[in-house]
Amino acid sequence: MTTTPTKKGSAAVQARRVLVLNSGSSSVKYQLLDMNDRSRLAIGLVERIGEATSRLLHTPLTGGDAETRERTGRIADHAAALQAAAEELAADGLGLDSPELAAIGHRVVHGGLRFTEPTVVTDEVLKEIERLVPVAPLHNPANITGIRTAQALRPDLPQVAVFDTAFHTTMPEYVARYAIDVETADAHRIRRYGFHGTSHAYVSRKAAELLGRAPEEVNVIVLHLGNGASASAVAGGRCVETSMGLTPLEGLVMGTRSGDIDPAVTFHLKRVAGMSTDEIDVLLNKKSGLVGLCGDNDMREIRRRIDEGDERAALAFNIYVHRLKKYIGAYSAVLGRVDAVVFTAGVGENSAPVREAAIAGLEELGLVVDAGLNAVRSGEPRLISPNYARVAVAVVPTDEELEIADQTFALVGRAESAGQEMPVGQVDN
Ligand code: AMP
Repeated sequence: MTTTPTKKGSAAVQARRVLVLNSGSSSVKYQLLDMNDRSRLAIGLVERIGEATSRLLHTPLTGGDAETRERTGRIADHAAALQAAAEELAADGLGLDSPELAAIGHRVVHGGLRFTEPTVVTDEVLKEIERLVPVAPLHNPANITGIRTAQALRPDLPQVAVFDTAFHTTMPEYVARYAIDVETADAHRIRRYGFHGTSHAYVSRKAAELLGRAPEEVNVIVLHLGNGASASAVAGGRCVETSMGLTPLEGLVMGTRSGDIDPAVTFHLKRVAGMSTDEIDVLLNKKSGLVGLCGDNDMREIRRRIDEGDERAALAFNIYVHRLKKYIGAYSAVLGRVDAVVFTAGVGENSAPVREAAIAGLEELGLVVDAGLNAVRSGEPRLISPNYARVAVAVVPTDEELEIADQTFALVGRAESAGQEMPVGQVDN
């Protein structure tokens, strides 16, 4: 058994910066935040890692003009990507060797049932994240690589894992279970986990703030509509339903994913169309949703085509909006009383036509959108329902990185104020 090195909390008392890492299979997004005022010091992205055409985009935000610097050429792996990001940060006087860095917060997609909260990474935690790879084969391996790379860079710092699934672990058992044979489900950990939890947590809390109420007092439906899309029903600050399931494939129509579908479609594709399991996986995850329906997954392009009279684009839009309406109705029933329906992420924050169409005809549920308010473009949380509406409709920009930084810093801070030893990075595994 390896022992976990620890760091006395008090040593980091003055450290008030958090680095947030979101590691994908061939990309790393990073943000450095100053937790004194929760401002960004720098943001960046390394993409196409391992290819000849790798690219790093780095934007320091400490000066007046935010000017993005670009590096091109092969960046071999995640370690090289993080090293390149560290060099860019150092060039701005924001080196990751700074004693001001308190912790590194990592987005981890799948935390299963075990991780209900942000968690300081130890050997044992890493092993458990690894054990979840079969239910998150695309995401967890990349997240693990990101953590190991960061540990190697700053072995003395706490690394904190913030899980996409954690916010949904409050769902009742009768919501999370699929109606299939219990033994089979349990043997393979098949149940509904939900994703985008960091966004749903942040946005539902912000929505309560917009209504001038405590999160415990309000029931909210959150519609996270990005390239991936999910809905959640949040009662008194706790998630009670969400649309994604074992994987992020279930639920709403997405950019490239089908969302809900009769599982027998997969048998049919196998038996009748002769497709392999991998081909069906690619079909449903990458070639379905908006892109499968009309060839485009960007809502701006779809709206442009609709304006030109394109019928396939119009059908795709209608299918997308119809699914949204079904979930709003279902979650209204689940919650019993709804205080707000909230739109967020790329489509939710920017597409007035989607918001208008999703709410149209739902007056009986107390839902109305004011056309003037809906047309306003803003980066701020805002109401788009008229004063008289029984249920608020709102747009709340999501900020997953800020939420990860907040959760990371709160965890490190709690340990500090309790004078606890913090586990820090491992480099020997
Ligand atoms: P996300 O995954 O949250 O970054 O969202 C990405 C998606 O948001 C894109 O695929 C577009 O469909 C959509 N999007 C971004 N900007 C706009 C916009 N101005 N109007 C409509 N849709 C947008």
